[in-house]
Amino acid sequence: MTEIQFFNSLGRRKEAFTSLTPDQVRMYSCGPTVYRYIHIGNLRTYLMSDLIRRVLEYNGYQVTQIINITDVGHLAEEDALGIESGEDKVLAAARQERKSPQEIAEHYTQAFLEDIAAINIQPAHRYPKATQHIPQMLALIQKLIDKGLAYARGGSVFYDVSAFPDYGKLSGHTLDELRAGYRIEVDEIKDDPADFLLWRGARPGQLAVWDSPWGPGFPGWHIECSAMSMEYLGPQLDIHTGGEDLIFPHHENEIAQSEGATGLPFVRVWMHGAHLLAEGRKMAKSTGNVLRLKDLVAQGIEPLAYRLLCLGHQYRGHMNVTWESLHAAQARLERLRRSVAEWRQAAGDNLSPSPTVEGQGKRSAVGSHTAHGMEPPAAREAYAAAFRAAINDDLALPTALTVVWDVEKSDLPPQDKLALILDFDRVLGLRLAEVPAAAPIELTEEERALIEQRDAARKARDWATSDRLRAELAARGLIIEDTPQGMRWRRR
Ligand code: AMP
Ligand code: ZN
Repeated sequence: MTEIQFFNSLGRRKEAFTSLTPDQVRMYSCGPTVYRYIHIGNLRTYLMSDLIRRVLEYNGYQVTQIINITDVGHLAEEDALGIESGEDKVLAAARQERKSPQEIAEHYTQAFLEDIAAINIQPAHRYPKATQHIPQMLALIQKLIDKGLAYARGGSVFYDVSAFPDYGKLSGHTLDELRAGYRIEVDEIKDDPADFLLWRGARPGQLAVWDSPWGPGFPGWHIECSAMSMEYLGPQLDIHTGGEDLIFPHHENEIAQSEGATGLPFVRVWMHGAHLLAEGRKMAKSTGNVLRLKDLVAQGIEPLAYRLLCLGHQYRGHMNVTWESLHAAQARLERLRRSVAEWRQAAGDNLSPSPTVEGQGKRSAVGSHTAHGMEPPAAREAYAAAFRAAINDDLALPTALTVVWDVEKSDLPPQDKLALILDFDRVLGLRLAEVPAAAPIELTEEERALIEQRDAARKARDWATSDRLRAELAARGLIIEDTPQGMRWRRR
């Protein structure tokens, strides 16, 4: 088994992955704030988490994944340093849409679940909602106060960052630099401008308010993830994911809260996805360059084609999306499906559609054909090893895709190609196991005769006749391909 290497944002280097418990991985992925539809940039980040999980599962790990739903606590305004202020985002949307906060949260949670299912992101084991974990958050905040890491002030509670010596270890920020950057509000009640909110005192007349020892209010956004990850995965996680904009302050603050409370290292590997750009700028509602999955579908681009496009870009690099690249991905997906359908047809019913290699009885059929000078079993293993090496190298999916195209072009027998690609699809997630065999093509008497004549011409090495007959068949809409297994045809 090749070792898995992941780039850890904490320390900023690639490391060999090991889990806290052998063969098991505890993974937490920051989920959506459910006050609007997610865009395909958000989806790229959720897809990264899905790929991490699939790569781990491909390597035999059992992964437990939690994706939280932020339905309270995320404030509408954020300054350049990520310090939030203003109204709660869900409450603001409820006011604008004239609905209850619950209706808003429910509607956008469902839309989120539909979108991630459409690009074949595996469902998380749980989607805990912040509003349903207030007691856990209150207990955690109390613990931080008891430990001298937090203080109550004017109905709110703040984390005292100067009391946590490791503050800044993930993002690289120093407290002095942060203090210099914050704009001080007139009504500032914090001891230190770099302190952050754990609990916020409610405003008069506000909806979604809970009682607390410090008065009525609602939780800060950061405390949610510390409380819910602890609730479902325990005090220590193997992997925590999110988009790169979450490194600071969200994840820095999660570390301060969780490690401050437990005294244990919180997360072994922090993984962050680079942003999706459109027209060269970060995709964001505020920029006005947002695309949703349904906008792609309206242009004939399937959600899985977007998935394939993302696979062609390593998650740590920015990806600029264009209509041209989306249409090209759609064409590539269709071509790949056509190949799978043909291999399935050529392989007869030998292969079960199960995407696991183990279940596929006939995959070791040995033919007389060679691939790169190797007999099929050796060639097959070389492709499988190349694929595994790529995905285990910090999710080098672009390299893994070149292995896919190499297999497609190779002269392996169709059943071997099919077995390999379906095995790879456990990670790629393109639903290739669902592609049915190509329907056998009914030939007319005339077409059959022309094909037989061409076959005879080829055997006689009469290339001129062979080419003429191929052209004649093409004129009738039959495309002929010469493969190592012989002649194949499909209708145009
Ligand atoms: P939000 O709903 O803004 O909290 O974002 C949800 C997730 O999507 C977070 O992990 C963000 O880091 C991520 N995200 C936001 N914008 C983008 C983008 N343009 N490209 C990739 N990920 C993004
Ligand atoms: Zn989070």
